[in-house]
Amino acid sequence: MPEYNYDIVVLGAGPGGYECAIRCAQYGKKVALVEARDLGGTCLNRGCIPTKALLHGAEMFEEIKSAETCGITVGEIGFDFAKLAEYKDGIVTKLRSGIAGLEKAHGVKVIKGFGRIADAHTLSVEGENGVEDISFDKLILATGSAPARPPIPGIDGKNIVTSDEILTMNELPESFVIIGGGVIGIEFATLFATLGRPVTVIEMMPSILPGVDADIVRVLGRVLKKKKVNVINNAKVVSIEGGDTVKVNYELNGEAKSAEGACCVVSVGRRAMTSGIGLDRIGVEMNRAFVNIDEYCRTNIESIYAIGDITGKIQLAHVASAQGLVAAANACGAKDEKMDYSVVPSCIYTSPEIAFVGLGEDKAAAQGIEYKLGTFNVAGNGRAMIMGDAIGVAKLISAPDGKLLGAQLMCPRATDMIAELALAIKMGASIEDIASTIHPHPTVSEVVAEAAHDHEGLCCHSLPKKK
Ligand code: FAD
Repeated sequence: MPEYNYDIVVLGAGPGGYECAIRCAQYGKKVALVEARDLGGTCLNRGCIPTKALLHGAEMFEEIKSAETCGITVGEIGFDFAKLAEYKDGIVTKLRSGIAGLEKAHGVKVIKGFGRIADAHTLSVEGENGVEDISFDKLILATGSAPARPPIPGIDGKNIVTSDEILTMNELPESFVIIGGGVIGIEFATLFATLGRPVTVIEMMPSILPGVDADIVRVLGRVLKKKKVNVINNAKVVSIEGGDTVKVNYELNGEAKSAEGACCVVSVGRRAMTSGIGLDRIGVEMNRAFVNIDEYCRTNIESIYAIGDITGKIQLAHVASAQGLVAAANACGAKDEKMDYSVVPSCIYTSPEIAFVGLGEDKAAAQGIEYKLGTFNVAGNGRAMIMGDAIGVAKLISAPDGKLLGAQLMCPRATDMIAELALAIKMGASIEDIASTIHPHPTVSEVVAEAAHDHEGLCCHSLPKKK
């Protein structure tokens, strides 16, 4: 076997790449991790973590506003967005140095620079000191994604931004128009509206959060309305006029309309970072804009693997990490591991939170899959009431034999609770298993047990169903 500089080179240090590099080192390989920007990738620097840090601050602001209901006297309440941004940056910096420490401790060589494939066993890395060629036995591509900017006339105008720029702001604009009512758009709408800013969301589809359970989206619609978020569905943006006031022109039912705000956030999806990295040079097979992989995360080139957002499977940090571990096992020859995308929890950090996993009712109905439903209205949960957030629903979907197929939650801390249901589906548990599992009281997790009891028509905390 030829002598390579490294057994494994990982290109891109997002949640896919940085975990993958550590796992390869744990398998005893000599590993380099090449990153052009910052360790942690989109997730840590421009995605999951900064958005949730800001949302945490906004939630605290909201809670303090209602503190008097618990007898707490507070003076005039205000917020300093620059301070909140500083808090967010502090968390990001701490986590970033944590990753650097972990890579070092595991013996992974971190190389700063932009990597391009030169041939099937060589990566050219352009860094501060010029270009260095490093050779590898296996390369794992983990270059991630960036915000898409569709070709809408005027999109490059003043005060028209994406999630990347929003997350570097130290001052919060006075009002917002958000183009795109997907997960990222709706999390930003929640953030801005909770901090008291007027928000308009323009969505092209008949509803925001396409693919999310219709009952949950309906409840969320009411929550957003209460926060004075103006959601406009079925609207096609035709042009944007940047400026101190941004005007977004759209068509609704054939009529020309417009919405204005101090800032326009374009949130219409993410493009894979696959151009200019030499994929075509060695003929890596693509699937539209994404790198084509098999269930082992292998590309068509024997020495090249790919993971994360560039594979176009499910653009979530935990999926990227899971792929990273599978690719590591296979590329290092440690064990044959396959990706399983059937049980992937999804979380939306609205208030209350939304989380779901497995089969949804809408999909089951659309595909003619026979199912049985158990539901519980979160208004009946004591802990949620104590938390002042007793809004939402828990839904469990089973096969006719009672096997759990899917779960949808909207309630406080839904994002922390969904893992129980992911495990239940993965282990082939039945609704009966969930109903007979004692859930601690008083917790929001009781909504899961209640929905399981409802599945059998035996929920003690729901009114009897009309016959
Ligand atoms: P990335 O995290 O995109 O990392 C890729 C890295 O590769 C980057 O650091 C980049 O600089 C580097 N790179 C690219 N090309 C090269 C090159 N040629 N040479 C060297 N380095 C290169 N997901 C969740 O699961 N939960 C959430 O709550 C969540 N919230 C989000 C909020 C926002 C606003 C956004 C934008 C995304 C969010 N996501 C969330 C999605 C999540 O961030 C991504 O799915 C995840 O980061 C993808 O990981 P990755 O490893 O594939 O790539």
